[in-house]
Amino acid sequence: MARLRRRLASSNNALARALADLLSVDQLDEDTWDDFEATLIASDLGVGPTTELTEALRRDFAVDGVSDPAQAKGILRDELVRLVDPTLDRTLNLEKDGDNPAVVLVVGVNGTGKTTTVGKLARVLVAEGKTVMLGAADTFRAAAAEQLATWGERVGVETVRSHEGADPASVAFDAVAKGAEAGVDVVIIDTAGRLHTKTGLMDELGKVKRVVEKKAKVSEVLLVLDATTGQNGMTQARIFGEVVDVTGVVLTKLDGSAKGGIVVQVQRELGVPVKLIGLGEGVDDLAPFDTHGFVAGILG
Ligand code: GDP
Repeated sequence: MARLRRRLASSNNALARALADLLSVDQLDEDTWDDFEATLIASDLGVGPTTELTEALRRDFAVDGVSDPAQAKGILRDELVRLVDPTLDRTLNLEKDGDNPAVVLVVGVNGTGKTTTVGKLARVLVAEGKTVMLGAADTFRAAAAEQLATWGERVGVETVRSHEGADPASVAFDAVAKGAEAGVDVVIIDTAGRLHTKTGLMDELGKVKRVVEKKAKVSEVLLVLDATTGQNGMTQARIFGEVVDVTGVVLTKLDGSAKGGIVVQVQRELGVPVKLIGLGEGVDDLAPFDTHGFVAGILG
């Protein structure tokens, strides 16, 4: 018991630490539960899920008289799994549209890890035996297309790009048309993420999607969120959720954050699952989201 407590306490994971604190007091009182709630909020779980989780734990602790750390951790794990929801379908929809490739639009604010995610995703798909082409529809920064093309070379796929200032929708269309011509399975399109005005973003992303869909169905719109940005990430999720039909979330930089609680919040807010997670800057640092693995990670 003491060993587990020590292990929990030495974990640099906030939730595991809070649980260790909870179990190290002789008497559970309101202050202990308040501290526990504060920790959950700090891990970006959101107020609603935090209250639910704390109430469920309090109930279990009171009714079952739980004092055994392993049992307590088990209860916390079960409640977290329930909140994160293992029943959601997290598979990417990459069904081809007739002879046309499946189209994946990757959206999100600049700096969240969009381009990196496109590169890593291409790598995953190529490893699965799929043929892939990239489209550089972020035409506002010259460096963006360059960065994407570098990723393309790294993972061995072609990147369709144009000059700085070109119409993003027309580059996206070209990429899908070229992908269809080459008979590839999937075209992944990197988009610009300037949140200068919501209307501007809406016009731009809406147009990219509309124009692409003249050629082929967009099968996935993946919103990339940086897990380290906390509530900012939630604000971005709300805005993007209003302007495009997001079908899945990619949560990046989870390697640098114990703030994974945003998974629960963002799934509730957008009504779509987190499908992929970014765990580093390397080419192989993208993984499918797995509820049980994620919760085990949170609990340390
Ligand atoms: P974009 O502006 O949204 O396209 O973002 P980038 O793909 O250029 O990424 C911005 C920075 O975040 C780069 O330095 C990336 O290497 C880094 N990055 C992206 N994904 C991850 C991740 O999962 N973990 C870590 N630690 N860094 C990441």
